[in-house]
Amino acid sequence: MTKLCHSCCAPLENPDFKGTSDIYCKYCVDENGNLKPQKNVHWGIAQWLKSWQPGIDDETALERAGHFMKAMPAWSDK
Ligand SMILES: [Zn+2]
Repeated sequence: MTKLCHSCCAPLENPDFKGTSDIYCKYCVDENGNLKPQKNVHWGIAQWLKSWQPGIDDETALERAGHFMKAMPAWSDK
């Protein structure tokens, strides 16, 4: 079964994403392995969306990132 980051869905088998945590990718945790604040992850996902959806603005990207995060175990109860 593919392991995915509980915060942003990144594939943890990929060394580009695997960090110190077993359930979060390296982009979603700080240097101590703690999950980053929600707004930091929210912004990061928005930038990622913009990288493959050229032309959308920050507001749209943040809104879509918010919907995306509601499906993630780390944020679904927030
Ligand atoms: Zn992640």
